[in-house]
Amino acid sequence: MNCVKCKTKAVIGLPRHNAAFCKPCFNEFVHDQVSRAIKAERMFGRADRILVAVSGGKDSLALWDVLLKLGYHADALYVDLGIPGYSAKSREEVERYADRVAKPCHATLLIHTVQEEEGAGIRELADLINRPTCSACGTIKRYQFNRAAVEQDYDVMATGHNLDDEAARLLGNVLHWQDDYLDKQSPSLPASVEGFAKKVKPLYRLTERELAAYAVLNRIDYIVEECPMAKGSKLLLYKEVLNRLETESPGTKQRFYWGFLEKQAKARPVPTSMAEKDQATLRPCATCGQPTTAETCSYCKMMARAKAGIPR
Ligand code: SF4
Ligand SMILES: [Zn+2]
Ligand SMILES: [Zn+2]
Repeated sequence: MNCVKCKTKAVIGLPRHNAAFCKPCFNEFVHDQVSRAIKAERMFGRADRILVAVSGGKDSLALWDVLLKLGYHADALYVDLGIPGYSAKSREEVERYADRVAKPCHATLLIHTVQEEEGAGIRELADLINRPTCSACGTIKRYQFNRAAVEQDYDVMATGHNLDDEAARLLGNVLHWQDDYLDKQSPSLPASVEGFAKKVKPLYRLTERELAAYAVLNRIDYIVEECPMAKGSKLLLYKEVLNRLETESPGTKQRFYWGFLEKQAKARPVPTSMAEKDQATLRPCATCGQPTTAETCSYCKMMARAKAGIPR
């Protein structure tokens, strides 16, 4: 199998593109897919400051790497959830990458430690407020990333969601006809109101397998294991189903998700209608000042309940 561009020996085949690439041409392909995503969705420009949400997994570290290689000003934030046997290892991978590649590029790694800042690890917090761990985790991560981005004047927040993640999420939203979620499922959500950072997903044109290959070929160490709390999640089941379809018919995930984006773009002008809708319903949280639809935001409500139960 030879590279379709330079005809030397290929290191990876991409059935969905009916192509194979050597390492330099594959890196070029990955960089090009990210550049296309940034341009097509008007995610950010050369002068913008980007905050990448890193977890220690292949996707977010590959995203940070690609943005730095493309010459963007990209810092990163890691949230240490304090999950035994998982968080220490994932943090190690993030710090290793930051020391080896990011810091020499003058990029900064910010760390938020849940145990220190919120007074308990994520599992303990979830138990205290009687909520599933992933739901408490989602609230904390969303809040902390948004707060860091807004307070430290980043223009945009970038996450490592890839084509597999977005196609699986779309499948879930369609299976349950979650109209509200379908409305908001987009690779680029504008900073609709004061206090909410713009959020983008520059990897939506690349698959999980392509990103794993990019990390391995570029010697980016990452935590291979999923977070133990993800076990049994519906999203993993949807990914399995889509992988089955992809094997039988390469390009299925891409056609499904990109097709949805095309239809969505034709159907309505997303940024304006969402901004208007949000403006009408959001106000500052009485406790922390971040935008919320209620008197107090869900993070402050959750922390108030947890605090009542945290031993001093
Ligand atoms: S699987 Fe759940 S607990 Fe683990 S990182 Fe994801 S949302 Fe958080
Ligand atoms: Zn080549
Ligand atoms: Zn609040």
